[in-house]
Formats: sequence, C-alpha cells, structure tokens
Amino acid sequence: MGNIFEITSINSIVKDFNKSHRVLNGLNVNGVNKMKYSIWVTTDCNLRCLYCYEGQEKQHLSISRQVSDDILRFMQRDLIEDNNKELLIDFHGGEPFLNIQEIKYLVRKILEKFGQARKVQFATTTNATIMEEDILDFIVQYIPDVSVSLDGTERTHNF
Ligand code: SF4
Repeated sequence: MGNIFEITSINSIVKDFNKSHRVLNGLNVNGVNKMKYSIWVTTDCNLRCLYCYEGQEKQHLSISRQVSDDILRFMQRDLIEDNNKELLIDFHGGEPFLNIQEIKYLVRKILEKFGQARKVQFATTTNATIMEEDILDFIVQYIPDVSVSLDGTERTHNF
C-alpha cells in the first residue's frame, strides 16, 4: 500500500454519517425502513481516473483501528432508538479493498453487535483490480451488493 497515513479523527466521518442519517432516516427502501451508513475506509487508490472525485493527487489516508472502533461506538449510540430498522453498510474509497483489514474488522464487529437484532446488508463500490483470492472469498461470503466502476478505456482509468 506504500505510504499510508492513518485517519485518526472521526469528525469528518461523523459528518458523513449525519448527512446520511438526515437524507435516509425515515425513508422506505423497497418497502422496508432501513438505515444506511457509508464508511469511507480509505482515500487511497491504485488507479488514476480522469474524473476521480478524490482528485489526482491522492492523500493516501486510511481509517485506523481506533477510527473503526469510534465508528462502532457511534453506530451503537445512533441506533439506540432505531431497533426496527434494517442496516445497509456501504464501504467506499478510494479503492476500499486497499484497506481490507478494516473492512473485515468492521464486518465482523457489526454482525456481532447488530446482526442478532437486525438484518444487516453490506455493499461496496470497487474498481475490481485487486481481486486477490482472499478478497474474492470475503466478498462472496459477506458482500452481496458490489458496484464495479468501469467507465472507459485503460487511458480513462490511468491517464
Ligand atoms: S477507481 Fe475510483 S477512487 Fe480510484 S482513481 Fe478511479 S475514480 Fe478515483
């Protein structure tokens, strides 16, 4: 992963969570009241797409274990009065699987903490270029909703 710095503050992530909460809280998704959390596990990426929303000079920031634990605590507080909701957890980047260890940790902990009382579904958006066997096995087992960003020629993604 090269020169990775860890994100050690949850402040910006909480802002994203709050935004998702405002946008999605109370909405019906396919007839079911669901709560969605989008978790940006890294800003790093192995590609260089023309249109990249992270910009061309990536910050190489990835969430740390400390931030993952802060996220779990935030969800626990946030969900106290939302017992009937299903959970949608969406892993984003950068290329999220450059931080596979925190995705695995969060999936395990989220299922432990919330999986008994709620249906939990995982999703991700990936460029699908680092699909090593252990990553593929993990996706097949835990992440049924996978969006692959393929938007042009090789030059479009690596200009
Ligand atoms: S795959 Fe996504 S994060 Fe990576 S360079 Fe392309 S648009 Fe940016």
